[in-house]
Amino acid sequence: MGFQVSIQPSQQHFQADATESILEAALRQGLSLPYGCRDGVCGSCRGKVLSGHVEHGKAQPDVLSEAERAAGFALFCCARARSDLCIESRELRSLADIPVRTLPARVQKLTRAAPDVMLVELKLPANERLQFLAGQYVDILLPQGKRRAFSLANAPQDDAFLQLHIRHTPGGKFTAHVFNTMKERDILRLCGPHGSFFLRSESAKPILLVAAGTGFAPIKAMVQQAISEGNKRSMYVYWGGRARADLYLLQLGESWPTEHAQLNFVPVLSEPLADDNWQGRSGLVHQVAMADHPDLSGFQAYVCGSPAMVAAARRDFVTRGRLPVEEFFADSFDFAADTLAAIETLTASHIRASQNE
Ligand SMILES: Cc1cc2nc3c(=O)[nH]c(=O)nc-3n(C[C@H](O)[C@H](O)[C@H](O)COP(=O)(O)OP(=O)(O)OC[C@H]3O[C@@H](n4cnc5c(N)ncnc54)[C@H](O)[C@@H]3O)c2cc1C
Repeated sequence: MGFQVSIQPSQQHFQADATESILEAALRQGLSLPYGCRDGVCGSCRGKVLSGHVEHGKAQPDVLSEAERAAGFALFCCARARSDLCIESRELRSLADIPVRTLPARVQKLTRAAPDVMLVELKLPANERLQFLAGQYVDILLPQGKRRAFSLANAPQDDAFLQLHIRHTPGGKFTAHVFNTMKERDILRLCGPHGSFFLRSESAKPILLVAAGTGFAPIKAMVQQAISEGNKRSMYVYWGGRARADLYLLQLGESWPTEHAQLNFVPVLSEPLADDNWQGRSGLVHQVAMADHPDLSGFQAYVCGSPAMVAAARRDFVTRGRLPVEEFFADSFDFAADTLAAIETLTASHIRASQNE
Protein backbone atom coordinates (compact mmCIF):
# COMPACT_ATOMS: atom_id res chain seq x y z
CA MET A 1 0.00 0.00 0.00
CA GLY A 2 1.42 3.41 -0.95
CA PHE A 3 1.22 6.70 0.92
CA GLN A 4 1.97 10.21 -0.20
CA VAL A 5 4.67 11.98 1.83
CA SER A 6 5.34 15.69 1.56
CA ILE A 7 8.48 17.29 3.00
CA GLN A 8 8.60 20.69 4.69
CA PRO A 9 10.09 23.19 4.13
CA SER A 10 11.12 22.04 0.62
CA GLN A 11 7.57 21.01 -0.43
CA GLN A 12 8.93 17.99 -2.28
CA HIS A 13 6.70 14.89 -2.52
CA PHE A 14 7.32 11.19 -2.72
CA GLN A 15 5.52 7.86 -2.38
CA ALA A 16 6.25 5.47 0.48
CA ASP A 17 5.17 1.85 0.74
CA ALA A 18 4.01 0.55 4.10
CA THR A 19 6.87 -1.98 4.06
CA GLU A 20 9.80 0.44 3.58
CA SER A 21 11.22 3.11 5.83
CA ILE A 22 10.50 6.72 4.96
CA LEU A 23 14.23 7.23 4.35
CA GLU A 24 14.42 4.24 1.96
CA ALA A 25 11.45 5.57 0.01
CA ALA A 26 12.95 9.08 -0.22
CA LEU A 27 16.39 7.84 -1.34
CA ARG A 28 14.80 5.49 -3.89
CA GLN A 29 13.13 8.52 -5.46
CA GLY A 30 16.27 10.67 -5.45
CA LEU A 31 15.53 12.83 -2.41
CA SER A 32 18.54 13.22 -0.12
CA LEU A 33 17.35 13.22 3.47
CA PRO A 34 20.20 13.15 5.98
CA TYR A 35 21.15 9.80 7.55
CA GLY A 36 23.99 7.96 9.24
CA CYS A 37 23.59 4.39 10.52
CA ARG A 38 20.23 3.51 8.87
CA ASP A 39 19.64 1.40 11.97
CA GLY A 40 17.90 3.66 14.49
CA VAL A 41 21.02 4.32 16.53
CA CYS A 42 22.82 7.49 15.44
CA GLY A 43 19.88 9.92 15.22
CA SER A 44 21.14 11.69 12.06
CA CYS A 45 17.81 11.11 10.29
CA ARG A 46 15.68 12.56 13.09
CA GLY A 47 12.83 14.77 11.87
CA LYS A 48 9.27 15.67 12.75
CA VAL A 49 5.96 14.20 11.62
CA LEU A 50 3.75 17.29 11.18
CA SER A 51 0.65 15.30 10.19
CA GLY A 52 -0.24 11.63 9.72
CA HIS A 53 0.84 8.43 11.45
CA VAL A 54 4.04 6.42 11.46
CA GLU A 55 5.16 3.21 13.09
CA HIS A 56 8.54 3.81 14.75
CA GLY A 57 10.01 0.37 14.10
CA LYS A 58 13.31 -0.35 15.80
CA ALA A 59 14.19 3.25 16.79
CA GLN A 60 16.17 2.89 20.02
CA PRO A 61 14.46 4.43 23.10
CA ASP A 62 17.64 6.23 24.16
CA VAL A 63 17.79 7.92 20.73
CA LEU A 64 14.06 8.60 20.41
CA SER A 65 12.32 8.78 23.79
CA GLU A 66 8.60 8.28 24.43
CA ALA A 67 8.28 12.03 25.08
CA GLU A 68 9.90 12.80 21.71
CA ARG A 69 7.61 10.34 19.93
CA ALA A 70 4.63 11.99 21.59
CA ALA A 71 5.93 15.38 20.43
CA GLY A 72 5.95 14.08 16.84
CA PHE A 73 9.65 13.29 16.33
CA ALA A 74 10.70 10.21 14.35
CA LEU A 75 13.81 8.52 13.02
CA PHE A 76 13.08 8.30 9.32
CA CYS A 77 15.49 5.38 8.82
CA CYS A 78 13.15 3.22 10.94
CA ALA A 79 9.75 4.89 10.71
CA ARG A 80 7.20 3.50 8.27
CA ALA A 81 4.21 5.43 6.96
CA ARG A 82 0.79 4.32 8.17
CA SER A 83 -1.09 7.15 6.42
CA ASP A 84 -0.30 10.04 4.09
CA LEU A 85 2.28 12.21 5.84
CA CYS A 86 3.66 15.68 6.04
CA ILE A 87 7.16 15.55 7.54
CA GLU A 88 9.71 18.17 8.49
CA SER A 89 13.25 17.28 7.49
CA ARG A 90 16.29 19.07 6.19
CA GLU A 91 17.15 18.02 2.64
CA LEU A 92 20.75 17.81 1.53
CA ARG A 93 21.01 20.34 -1.25
CA SER A 94 24.71 20.37 -1.95
CA LEU A 95 27.87 18.35 -1.53
CA ALA A 96 28.80 20.56 1.40
CA ASP A 97 25.84 19.11 3.32
CA ILE A 98 27.20 15.55 3.11
CA PRO A 99 29.60 14.80 5.95
CA VAL A 100 33.04 13.41 5.04
CA ARG A 101 33.83 10.58 7.42
CA THR A 102 36.76 8.34 8.26
CA LEU A 103 35.66 4.76 8.97
CA PRO A 104 37.07 1.27 9.26
CA ALA A 105 35.72 -1.19 6.69
CA ARG A 106 35.97 -4.97 6.57
CA VAL A 107 36.76 -6.65 3.26
CA GLN A 108 33.62 -8.72 2.81
CA LYS A 109 34.23 -10.25 -0.59
CA LEU A 110 36.93 -10.29 -3.26
CA THR A 111 35.95 -11.31 -6.80
CA ARG A 112 38.47 -11.45 -9.63
CA ALA A 113 36.32 -10.11 -12.49
CA ALA A 114 39.18 -9.90 -15.02
CA PRO A 115 42.89 -10.75 -14.90
CA ASP A 116 43.61 -7.20 -13.68
CA VAL A 117 40.29 -6.17 -12.09
CA MET A 118 39.17 -7.04 -8.56
CA LEU A 119 35.64 -6.34 -7.34
CA VAL A 120 35.93 -5.50 -3.65
CA GLU A 121 32.94 -5.42 -1.33
CA LEU A 122 33.46 -3.54 1.92
CA LYS A 123 31.29 -3.76 5.02
CA LEU A 124 31.18 -0.85 7.44
CA PRO A 125 30.82 -1.49 11.18
CA ALA A 126 27.32 -2.34 12.44
CA ASN A 127 25.23 0.81 12.75
CA GLU A 128 27.38 2.76 10.29
CA ARG A 129 26.42 3.74 6.75
CA LEU A 130 28.17 6.15 4.41
CA GLN A 131 26.01 8.78 2.85
CA PHE A 132 27.16 9.72 -0.66
CA LEU A 133 25.97 10.62 -4.13
CA ALA A 134 26.21 8.04 -6.93
CA GLY A 135 29.52 8.68 -8.72
CA GLN A 136 31.55 9.91 -5.73
CA TYR A 137 34.72 8.22 -4.50
CA VAL A 138 36.47 7.31 -1.24
CA ASP A 139 40.13 7.43 -0.27
CA ILE A 140 41.64 4.26 1.14
CA LEU A 141 44.00 5.40 3.90
CA LEU A 142 47.45 3.81 3.94
CA PRO A 143 50.37 4.10 6.40
CA GLN A 144 52.44 7.32 6.45
CA GLY A 145 49.52 9.48 5.43
CA LYS A 146 49.23 8.00 1.93
CA ARG A 147 45.85 7.56 0.31
CA ARG A 148 44.45 5.97 -2.83
CA ALA A 149 41.19 7.07 -4.49
CA PHE A 150 38.57 4.57 -5.68
CA SER A 151 35.08 5.30 -6.99
CA LEU A 152 32.06 3.76 -5.29
CA ALA A 153 30.42 1.38 -7.76
CA ASN A 154 27.14 0.94 -5.90
CA ALA A 155 24.22 3.34 -5.77
CA PRO A 156 23.65 4.99 -2.37
CA GLN A 157 20.34 3.30 -1.64
CA ASP A 158 22.03 -0.09 -2.11
CA ASP A 159 24.61 0.53 0.60
CA ALA A 160 24.69 -2.64 2.72
CA PHE A 161 28.15 -3.07 1.16
CA LEU A 162 30.39 -0.53 -0.55
CA GLN A 163 31.67 -1.82 -3.90
CA LEU A 164 34.97 -0.88 -5.50
CA HIS A 165 36.34 -1.95 -8.91
CA ILE A 166 40.11 -1.96 -8.53
CA ARG A 167 42.46 -2.29 -11.50
CA HIS A 168 45.94 -3.65 -10.82
CA THR A 169 48.29 -0.78 -11.66
CA PRO A 170 51.66 -2.14 -12.81
CA GLY A 171 54.18 -1.16 -10.12
CA GLY A 172 51.40 0.07 -7.84
CA LYS A 173 51.83 -0.64 -4.13
CA PHE A 174 48.24 -0.64 -2.96
CA THR A 175 46.70 -2.41 -5.94
CA ALA A 176 49.45 -5.08 -5.76
CA HIS A 177 48.41 -5.62 -2.14
CA VAL A 178 44.77 -6.00 -3.24
CA PHE A 179 45.71 -8.66 -5.79
CA ASN A 180 48.44 -10.50 -3.92
CA THR A 181 47.95 -10.35 -0.18
CA MET A 182 44.60 -8.85 0.78
CA LYS A 183 42.14 -11.36 2.23
CA GLU A 184 38.48 -11.39 3.03
CA ARG A 185 37.90 -10.08 6.60
CA ASP A 186 40.94 -7.75 6.41
CA ILE A 187 40.27 -4.26 7.75
CA LEU A 188 40.87 -1.11 5.70
CA ARG A 189 40.35 2.52 6.65
CA LEU A 190 38.54 4.80 4.28
CA CYS A 191 37.67 8.47 4.14
CA GLY A 192 34.89 9.96 2.07
CA PRO A 193 32.79 10.59 0.20
CA HIS A 194 34.70 12.94 -2.07
CA GLY A 195 34.31 14.46 -5.51
CA SER A 196 31.71 16.22 -7.57
CA PHE A 197 31.16 13.53 -10.20
CA PHE A 198 27.42 12.89 -9.84
CA LEU A 199 24.36 13.24 -12.08
CA ARG A 200 22.91 16.74 -12.16
CA SER A 201 19.26 15.94 -11.57
CA GLU A 202 18.01 19.47 -12.26
CA SER A 203 18.69 19.04 -16.00
CA ALA A 204 16.35 17.28 -18.44
CA LYS A 205 18.98 16.92 -21.17
CA PRO A 206 19.86 13.47 -22.56
CA ILE A 207 22.98 12.06 -20.96
CA LEU A 208 26.09 10.65 -22.59
CA LEU A 209 28.09 8.45 -20.19
CA VAL A 210 31.54 7.34 -21.32
CA ALA A 211 33.71 4.95 -19.29
CA ALA A 212 37.07 3.37 -19.93
CA GLY A 213 38.12 0.28 -17.94
CA THR A 214 37.33 0.61 -14.24
CA GLY A 215 35.91 4.06 -15.03
CA PHE A 216 32.77 1.95 -15.34
CA ALA A 217 32.49 1.89 -11.51
CA PRO A 218 30.95 5.37 -10.93
CA ILE A 219 29.01 5.21 -14.21
CA LYS A 220 27.39 1.97 -13.01
CA ALA A 221 26.46 3.66 -9.73
CA MET A 222 24.89 6.59 -11.59
CA VAL A 223 22.90 4.36 -13.93
CA GLN A 224 21.65 2.17 -11.10
CA GLN A 225 20.67 5.28 -9.12
CA ALA A 226 18.77 6.67 -12.12
CA ILE A 227 16.98 3.34 -12.57
CA SER A 228 15.93 3.19 -8.94
CA GLU A 229 14.66 6.78 -9.03
CA GLY A 230 12.56 6.02 -12.12
CA ASN A 231 14.52 8.73 -13.99
CA LYS A 232 13.28 8.76 -17.60
CA ARG A 233 16.05 10.88 -19.15
CA SER A 234 17.66 9.18 -22.14
CA MET A 235 21.04 7.73 -21.18
CA TYR A 236 23.64 6.56 -23.70
CA VAL A 237 26.34 4.49 -21.98
CA TYR A 238 29.60 3.74 -23.86
CA TRP A 239 32.06 1.43 -22.12
CA GLY A 240 35.48 0.90 -23.64
CA GLY A 241 38.32 -1.51 -23.03
CA ARG A 242 41.18 -2.91 -25.00
CA ALA A 243 40.00 -6.53 -25.20
CA ARG A 244 36.82 -8.39 -24.20
CA ALA A 245 38.19 -9.26 -20.73
CA ASP A 246 38.41 -5.55 -19.87
CA LEU A 247 34.59 -5.27 -20.01
CA TYR A 248 34.30 -7.25 -16.81
CA LEU A 249 30.55 -6.66 -16.23
CA LEU A 250 29.43 -6.76 -19.86
CA GLN A 251 26.29 -8.77 -19.15
CA LEU A 252 25.12 -6.22 -16.61
CA GLY A 253 25.48 -3.37 -19.13
CA GLU A 254 23.75 -5.39 -21.82
CA SER A 255 20.81 -6.06 -19.50
CA TRP A 256 20.06 -2.35 -18.99
CA PRO A 257 18.43 -1.56 -22.38
CA THR A 258 16.40 -4.76 -22.34
CA GLU A 259 14.83 -3.71 -19.04
CA HIS A 260 14.73 0.09 -19.40
CA ALA A 261 13.70 1.74 -22.67
CA GLN A 262 15.51 5.02 -21.92
CA LEU A 263 18.88 3.27 -21.55
CA ASN A 264 21.31 2.49 -24.37
CA PHE A 265 24.51 0.54 -23.88
CA VAL A 266 27.38 0.30 -26.37
CA PRO A 267 30.50 -1.74 -25.55
CA VAL A 268 33.62 -0.76 -27.50
CA LEU A 269 36.98 -2.51 -27.88
CA SER A 270 40.12 -0.77 -29.12
CA GLU A 271 42.32 -3.88 -29.58
CA PRO A 272 40.07 -6.99 -29.62
CA LEU A 273 41.92 -10.30 -29.53
CA ALA A 274 41.31 -12.92 -32.20
CA ASP A 275 39.86 -15.20 -29.51
CA ASP A 276 37.37 -12.48 -28.54
CA ASN A 277 35.41 -13.03 -31.80
CA TRP A 278 34.31 -9.45 -31.33
CA GLN A 279 31.31 -8.47 -33.45
CA GLY A 280 30.70 -5.16 -31.67
CA ARG A 281 32.04 -1.64 -32.11
CA SER A 282 35.79 -1.07 -32.36
CA GLY A 283 37.94 2.01 -31.80
CA LEU A 284 38.48 4.56 -29.07
CA VAL A 285 35.43 4.74 -26.86
CA HIS A 286 34.94 8.51 -26.90
CA GLN A 287 35.34 8.59 -30.69
CA VAL A 288 32.71 5.88 -31.14
CA ALA A 289 30.36 7.87 -28.88
CA MET A 290 30.97 10.96 -31.03
CA ALA A 291 30.41 9.03 -34.25
CA ASP A 292 26.92 8.16 -32.96
CA HIS A 293 26.28 11.62 -31.48
CA PRO A 294 28.15 14.17 -33.60
CA ASP A 295 26.06 17.05 -32.26
CA LEU A 296 26.33 17.17 -28.47
CA SER A 297 25.03 20.71 -28.10
CA GLY A 298 21.86 19.49 -26.34
CA PHE A 299 23.58 16.87 -24.11
CA GLN A 300 25.22 16.50 -20.73
CA ALA A 301 28.34 14.29 -20.74
CA TYR A 302 29.79 12.27 -17.86
CA VAL A 303 33.19 10.77 -18.58
CA CYS A 304 35.39 8.57 -16.40
CA GLY A 305 38.64 6.68 -16.82
CA SER A 306 42.28 7.32 -17.65
CA PRO A 307 43.49 10.95 -17.68
CA ALA A 308 44.34 10.66 -21.41
CA MET A 309 40.84 9.49 -22.37
CA VAL A 310 39.15 12.13 -20.22
CA ALA A 311 41.30 14.90 -21.71
CA ALA A 312 40.64 13.72 -25.29
CA ALA A 313 36.89 13.45 -24.64
CA ARG A 314 36.73 16.92 -23.13
CA ARG A 315 38.61 18.42 -26.11
CA ASP A 316 36.61 16.59 -28.81
CA PHE A 317 33.16 16.83 -27.23
CA VAL A 318 33.51 20.57 -26.67
CA THR A 319 35.32 21.66 -29.83
CA ARG A 320 33.94 19.24 -32.46
CA GLY A 321 30.71 18.15 -30.76
CA ARG A 322 29.73 21.65 -29.54
CA LEU A 323 29.01 20.35 -26.04
CA PRO A 324 28.70 23.38 -23.72
CA VAL A 325 31.82 23.14 -21.55
CA GLU A 326 29.75 23.51 -18.37
CA GLU A 327 27.87 20.32 -19.35
CA PHE A 328 31.05 18.21 -19.26
CA PHE A 329 31.61 16.33 -15.99
CA ALA A 330 34.50 13.93 -15.40
CA ASP A 331 36.54 11.95 -12.93
CA SER A 332 40.02 11.37 -14.21
CA PHE A 333 41.74 8.34 -12.65
CA ASP A 334 44.97 10.13 -11.85
CA PHE A 335 47.60 8.49 -9.75
CA ALA A 336 47.85 9.46 -6.10
CA ALA A 337 49.51 12.75 -5.20
CA ASP A 338 52.34 11.05 -3.30
CA THR A 339 53.15 8.90 -6.37
CA LEU A 340 53.15 11.95 -8.60
CA ALA A 341 55.34 13.80 -6.11
CA ALA A 342 57.75 10.85 -6.09
CA ILE A 343 57.82 10.81 -9.89
CA GLU A 344 58.42 14.58 -10.02
CA THR A 345 61.27 14.22 -7.51
CA LEU A 346 62.75 11.35 -9.53
CA THR A 347 62.36 13.33 -12.76
CA ALA A 348 63.93 16.44 -11.19
CA SER A 349 66.90 14.46 -9.83
CA HIS A 350 67.22 12.70 -13.19
CA ILE A 351 67.35 16.12 -14.93
CA ARG A 352 69.91 17.40 -12.38
CA ALA A 353 71.99 14.24 -12.80
CA SER A 354 71.94 14.51 -16.59
CA GLN A 355 72.83 18.25 -16.41
CA ASN A 356 75.83 17.35 -14.25
CA GLU A 357 77.02 14.71 -16.66
C1 LIG B 1 38.98 10.37 -8.16
C2 LIG B 1 39.67 9.07 -8.53
C3 LIG B 1 38.95 7.90 -8.57
C4 LIG B 1 39.57 6.71 -8.91
N1 LIG B 1 38.82 5.58 -8.96
C5 LIG B 1 39.39 4.42 -9.35
C6 LIG B 1 38.61 3.22 -9.47
O1 LIG B 1 37.40 3.20 -9.21
N2 LIG B 1 39.24 2.10 -9.89
C7 LIG B 1 40.58 2.09 -10.21
O2 LIG B 1 41.08 1.03 -10.61
N3 LIG B 1 41.36 3.20 -10.08
C8 LIG B 1 40.80 4.36 -9.67
N4 LIG B 1 41.56 5.49 -9.56
C9 LIG B 1 43.01 5.40 -9.81
C10 LIG B 1 43.75 4.88 -8.57
O3 LIG B 1 43.52 5.75 -7.47
C11 LIG B 1 45.27 4.84 -8.87
O4 LIG B 1 45.47 3.92 -9.89
C12 LIG B 1 46.08 4.49 -7.64
O5 LIG B 1 47.15 5.42 -7.52
C13 LIG B 1 46.68 3.12 -7.66
O6 LIG B 1 47.37 2.93 -6.44
P1 LIG B 1 48.71 2.08 -6.33
O7 LIG B 1 49.26 2.30 -4.97
O8 LIG B 1 48.47 0.68 -6.76
O9 LIG B 1 49.63 2.71 -7.46
P2 LIG B 1 50.65 3.99 -7.29
O10 LIG B 1 51.68 3.65 -6.28
O11 LIG B 1 49.85 5.23 -7.03
O12 LIG B 1 51.28 4.08 -8.75
C14 LIG B 1 51.69 2.92 -9.40
C15 LIG B 1 52.77 3.08 -10.45
O13 LIG B 1 52.21 3.71 -11.57
C16 LIG B 1 53.19 4.46 -12.18
N5 LIG B 1 52.74 5.86 -12.27
C17 LIG B 1 52.15 6.57 -11.28
N6 LIG B 1 51.85 7.80 -11.74
C18 LIG B 1 52.22 7.84 -13.03
C19 LIG B 1 52.15 8.83 -14.03
N7 LIG B 1 51.63 10.05 -13.80
N8 LIG B 1 52.62 8.53 -15.27
C20 LIG B 1 53.14 7.33 -15.53
N9 LIG B 1 53.22 6.33 -14.61
C21 LIG B 1 52.77 6.60 -13.38
C22 LIG B 1 54.43 4.31 -11.38
O14 LIG B 1 55.20 3.28 -11.95
C23 LIG B 1 53.95 3.90 -10.06
O15 LIG B 1 54.90 3.15 -9.38
C24 LIG B 1 40.97 6.69 -9.21
C25 LIG B 1 41.71 7.87 -9.14
C26 LIG B 1 41.07 9.05 -8.81
C27 LIG B 1 41.87 10.33 -8.74
